Amino acid sequence: MGQLHIVLVPMIAHGHMIPMLDMAKLFSSRGVKTTIIATPAFAEPIRKARESGHDIGLTTTKFPPKGSSLPDNIRSLDQVTDDLLPHFFRALELLQEPVEEIMEDLKPDCLVSDMFLPWTTDSAAKFGIPRLLFHGTSLFARCFAEQMSIQKPYKNVSSDSEPFVLRGLPHEVSFVRTQIPDYELQEGGDDAFSKMAKQMRDADKKSYGDVINSFEELESEYADYNKNVFGKKAWHIGPLKLFNNRAEQKSSQRGKESAIDDHECLAWLNSKKPNSVVYMCFGSMATFTPAQLHETAVGLESSGQDFIWVVRNGGENEDWLPQGFEERIKGKGLMIRGWAPQVMILDHPSTGAFVTHCGWNSTLEGICAGLPMVTWPVFAEQFYNEKLVTEVLKTGVSVGNKKWQRVGEGVGSEAVKEAVERVMVGDGAAEMRSRALYYKEMARKAVEEGGSSYNNLNALIEELSAYVPPMKQGLN
Ligand code: UDP
Repeated sequence: MGQLHIVLVPMIAHGHMIPMLDMAKLFSSRGVKTTIIATPAFAEPIRKARESGHDIGLTTTKFPPKGSSLPDNIRSLDQVTDDLLPHFFRALELLQEPVEEIMEDLKPDCLVSDMFLPWTTDSAAKFGIPRLLFHGTSLFARCFAEQMSIQKPYKNVSSDSEPFVLRGLPHEVSFVRTQIPDYELQEGGDDAFSKMAKQMRDADKKSYGDVINSFEELESEYADYNKNVFGKKAWHIGPLKLFNNRAEQKSSQRGKESAIDDHECLAWLNSKKPNSVVYMCFGSMATFTPAQLHETAVGLESSGQDFIWVVRNGGENEDWLPQGFEERIKGKGLMIRGWAPQVMILDHPSTGAFVTHCGWNSTLEGICAGLPMVTWPVFAEQFYNEKLVTEVLKTGVSVGNKKWQRVGEGVGSEAVKEAVERVMVGDGAAEMRSRALYYKEMARKAVEEGGSSYNNLNALIEELSAYVPPMKQGLN
């Protein structure tokens, strides 16, 4: 084989696209020919990366694709309401034909594709190449989710509040039924997500292995567990974000254009003492009821801490804002309405803690910044990531949300206040901070030459370069 050529097919969601682009940069920096197949709405950051010198190929394919019943203005997952979900998943399926046409041209040696594109396993098989799965989350969460669906311990409890544990995993962590994703509880159900979950699981089993945006030192038992119990290959090659930072130094623009000017944001942070600001943000997808936004505002203010609060979808008139809130918080709190320069904020020395929904990118960005966290999972696999932070790494405390739901609600202002105080000034705060700094250092070392992620990527490239498709094995 000449130069190894890897094609990446990301999901059209910011939380999936951001790490995929980082991965593309990493591959190409190691001499791998790298091409991303993207939809036009997600092409801009890739173009920018190319302009700044990254040797990444880009091919676009229309979305929604031909034959789709999805409204034409839908360009990314965060625009998809529940009623549109079946149409959205169908549209993702319809990408198969145009993507395979592109592959016909590109003739890659390997496909790295998002979990939401289960048909790519078949596409890769057609071309006689391996499909590597990019799930976008921790291996910890993957192992817990997999065992949850095998063991189904939530079936043996008599109430929503009765705790249960999963057997056989490296850590004994307890859950209650309300924390379990609805697509897991309704497995075999007829709704769009349950059907998709089944397709993804079937495709996972047939995939060559997983590339993981994490590092072994963070979840070493799970690397072994995945191999020994599930018999699956996985390569921890992250944190991908660290590679991105080193390559460009400008970490502010990730995914979308920020709703705040970098200089304004930095000036505000610069005016604060080290470790004195709480940063609160819930990623690119999670939304909350107006009542929840109100409680959050009251809790943040009564914690007495300085804060940056990122509010997406707060509505036009924001009538959930407590009366006089913005006047009172002037100088103490900064609200960003829309997209925040998250990594820039997390990495700033004034930032002292991160209130996060535990999306994996955010969690890992918090770990890389060495920050203690308040965990506030809402849906997806976020409740598993919460357990990693609060019970395994012990670098954070939970706000106490026990309900998996698509629109967050039910966390009172007192719980917000208490959790923020605990990570900032509570009895265990110093210890959490020092543990968080330890993992920050581990993360940095993992991506350096000779580090675990650096070596894992070498091993992956070597293995892919030597790959012989099953149909050709024994023919030489
Ligand atoms: N992000 C950002 N600014 C925002 C919100 C999110 O830069 O205002 C980035 C964040 O840094 C992370 C990604 O978007 O890289 C969100 O991914 P995550 O897995 O945390 O959550 P999701 O959006 O998938 O729920």
